[in-house]
Order: sequence, then structure tokens, then C-alpha cells
Amino acid sequence: MEVPNYEDLHFVLVPLMAQGHMIPMLDIARLLALRGVTVSYITTPLNAARIRPSVDRATLSGLPISLVELPFPSAEAGLPEGFENADQLTSHDHARNFLLDATKLFLKPLIGHLRDHRTPPSCLITDAVLPWTREVARAFRMRRLIFHGHNCFSTLCFYNLYKHNVLESAASESDRLVVPGLSHRVELTKEQLTMTNLKELREAMREAEETADGVVINSFEELELEYLKTYRETTGKKAWMIGPVSLSNKDDGDKINRGKKASIDEKQCFDWLKTKEPNSVVYVSFGSIGKLRPPQMEELGFALEGSGHHFIWVVKEGDALPKKFEEEPITERWMVIRGWAPQVVILSRREIGGFVTHCGWNSTIEGLCAGVPMVTWPLLGEQFLNEKLVVDVLRVGVSVGVPRPCGWVGEEAGAEGVGREAIGMALERLMDGGDGGGERRERAREFGELARKAMEVGGSSYVNLTGVIEDVLKFKSMENVEENGHDDML
Ligand code: UDP
Repeated sequence: MEVPNYEDLHFVLVPLMAQGHMIPMLDIARLLALRGVTVSYITTPLNAARIRPSVDRATLSGLPISLVELPFPSAEAGLPEGFENADQLTSHDHARNFLLDATKLFLKPLIGHLRDHRTPPSCLITDAVLPWTREVARAFRMRRLIFHGHNCFSTLCFYNLYKHNVLESAASESDRLVVPGLSHRVELTKEQLTMTNLKELREAMREAEETADGVVINSFEELELEYLKTYRETTGKKAWMIGPVSLSNKDDGDKINRGKKASIDEKQCFDWLKTKEPNSVVYVSFGSIGKLRPPQMEELGFALEGSGHHFIWVVKEGDALPKKFEEEPITERWMVIRGWAPQVVILSRREIGGFVTHCGWNSTIEGLCAGVPMVTWPLLGEQFLNEKLVVDVLRVGVSVGVPRPCGWVGEEAGAEGVGREAIGMALERLMDGGDGGGERRERAREFGELARKAMEVGGSSYVNLTGVIEDVLKFKSMENVEENGHDDML
């Protein structure tokens, strides 16, 4: 088979500076580079330091990825010095400054960098949260694709909710609303359907999506083809499913420090797991940002201990752990990891039999790749929609029954109202060896198989990534015919 030559193509990836966005974008960088495309991954000094070991591994193996570190004057946007990632947020004011003002400071340095690069840029892949990147794409006459970091189902739901002004029609936050434009009923409260309370941000994201040349999605057709078709019909947009991108991490070396240096020695973790039976350990994590209030941590700790199962519980620096776990973080029954866990590698171990997740899309699809059933515990953003997908559509999850979203950061943090009984029951159903539990586990295993096939040479996501590259190539050759000029921003 003739291998196409893509070395004149230069993709520029600009992720939002949040782990849930940076990590899958780095996987996308690797996937593109594996096809011979030159990739620039743009970020700030603090974030570059976190991911440099992963990028170095990729470049050492010959992949054409460069990590581009642009200065980030946080203070100019009213942020504390050194503030460069969403996981440092402690107040709502900072969230606004960070998401709406600070990232714009990239515009000029980014244009300068691209102007000086030896290979002219051909495609920008960027978060919808960064609408100003439109100017960059326009200046260099290149394709601009959006990467939301979401699945197709929630992307379609949000599109329809905003298009039909559904949220505005609600009288109160607790009003139940039906998502329009789907072939089945999805009903949630207004607050569960509110992606962000920052209206300006919602509008900017919508505009960025409307004006983009297409959307790339970290999912695969075998999982949600129906929603992909409806999304294309509804929006008239090009959309490609190119995931699960986490499967681009082939060996443990890539998986262990993915996104950040792990806070635990992996050998210690594997040695602990080795002493357990297959499918006997529950893995509990709420992602990179979500936090539970101390009373909720108490309920969860009580339920985990009471479940009788082995468990790995990942908590954040500063989380108030119940005293017992603080005093004894590692026993034969449990292992508490404080800080950053090597999640993908842990999930892939055969001892893991269930995943208590906050339904961030990366974690959810990583759980699917590992073929494990889940307890769904959404906190905010699009996570309540992900819960619907996992529990009702894919039928690989058990809902813990979170009634209301929690605030995003600092003082508001903490989903309320999930009692120890509800958690205990969800854990019991999750790990249940009977019919219901067995079928869920089998379905999860099948999705894991399909995910792997989608990413193999010739699989649906592999072919779709070729589609993205060919689309950019076609656009580039058309542009070259028209005129070889840049605009006056340059
Ligand atoms: N993650 C990890 N170790 C941790 C916490 C998170 O590796 O201790 C990774 C996880 O595998 C996923 C990402 O961080 O790839 C979190 O993204 P997700 O969309 O699940 O949630 P978010 O952090 O955006 O809420």
C-alpha cells in the first residue's frame, strides 16, 4: 500500500489549559504525527513542564511534534502570578478571567510563532472555549477545527438546547426540560443542563462552533453513530470521530505519567493490585477538577468501606479525607492515591472490576476502553448528559443519583445529597455477579473491543483521521491556487 506523504502539512493544536482538554489533545498530536504530519502543540510554561516528558518520549521515537511554550502574563488578566491551568482555580472571578480574558493573551505571540515557523500552518485544532483563534485561522488562511473534548451525544444536545432557547424557557433551576431533536427522550433539570453559568462564554463557544470548518470528536462511530448522523444533518457541519484517543498510548511508559507526573510509584500500585482477584477492585476518581465537600467524602468513605470490596480511591491535594483513610491510606482492602493517579494504566488492569466516575468524557471513554462498568456520579458541565449516555443508552452504568450539580470551584465546590445508602446500593449493583451486573460487564467489555478495533489501521476512527488530513490537504491546495497571500494581521 502506498503511504501518503503529509510532511508539508502542519497542524497547530491549541488546547484550553485544563487537564481534561490538554491530555486528549496531546493524544491527537501523537496520532497526527504518526501519520507524518508536523504538529505544534501550543501551551504555557507551567503546562509545558507538566507534559514535556510525554512529548519528549514521542519526539525521541521520531514523531514530528514540537511543544511550543508561549509566555502567559497571568497578571494582565487579573489572575495570580503563575496561574496557568483550570485546576488552580479557587474562585468564580478567576474562572471568568481565565476562560474569557486570559487565553486571548496568546493571540499575538501565537501569530508571531507561526509566522516564523519553517512550515506554514495548514490547520488549527482548538477548543471552542477559545473563539479568538478564529483570527489566527483567518490570518493564515487555514482550516479551523473545533475540539470540544465532549462526545457527540452531548455536543448535539447542547447544540439543540441553545438553538431552541430551551434553557431560557425554564422558570427555575429545578424545572425539568426535554432535549429537543433526539429520537429518544432525554430529560434533566435546567441546572443539570447548564454547561456554564457564564453567558458570555456560552455565546462565545456557540459562535466558535458555528464558524468552524468542522469538529473532531474523541469518540468512535460504533458507540454513537446515530448522534453523529443527526449532528451532521442538524448543523450541516463536517464532523469526524477519531477516538478513543487515549488508545494512542501504547506502552506503560506513555500511560503512567500521562498529563502529569503520577503521585504514586507505579510498582507499589501494581504490586498491590497483583494480590487481588480479577474484576474485584473498584477504582474511584472525580477527574482533575471536581471536588466533594467533607460531609460527602465521609459518606463515600463509609460506603466504600461498607461495600466489602477492594478499592483505589483517588483524592486531590487538600481534600478532607475521613480520618480513618488519612491515618491508613494503604491497607489490604484499599489504596488511597492523593494527587495524580496513572488512571489509564490502572483502569486497564484486569483486577479493576468497576469505576466510580464523575463522568468527565475522558474518564468515561477511558472506562469504556478498559471494558469496565461504571457508577455514574456527575458533578457539573456536560457530565449529567454523559451519565444519560452511559446508563440509559449504552447501559453500562449504574447512577448514584446526584440531584444537583456542584459549583465549579472553591467555596461552592461539592455535589450535595448523595447518602451512604444510595452509594452502597450503586456499588452493590456495579459489582453484582448476577444477571444485571453480568450483562452490564459484558456490554462494557464489548465496547472495549470495538474501541480497540476503531483505532486499528483500517478501523473507523483511523479512516476518519485520514479524512481530516485529506480535507485539510484539499483545502490547502485550493487556497494555493487562489492566492498565496496572508492578510494584514501578519
Ligand atoms: N486523570 C489522571 N489521573 C488523575 C485524574 C485525572 O490521569 O488522577 C486524567 C484522566 O485519565 C482523564 C483526565 O485526567 O484523561 C480527566 O479528564 P475528564 O474529562 O475525565 O475530567 P475533568 O478532569 O476534565 O473533569
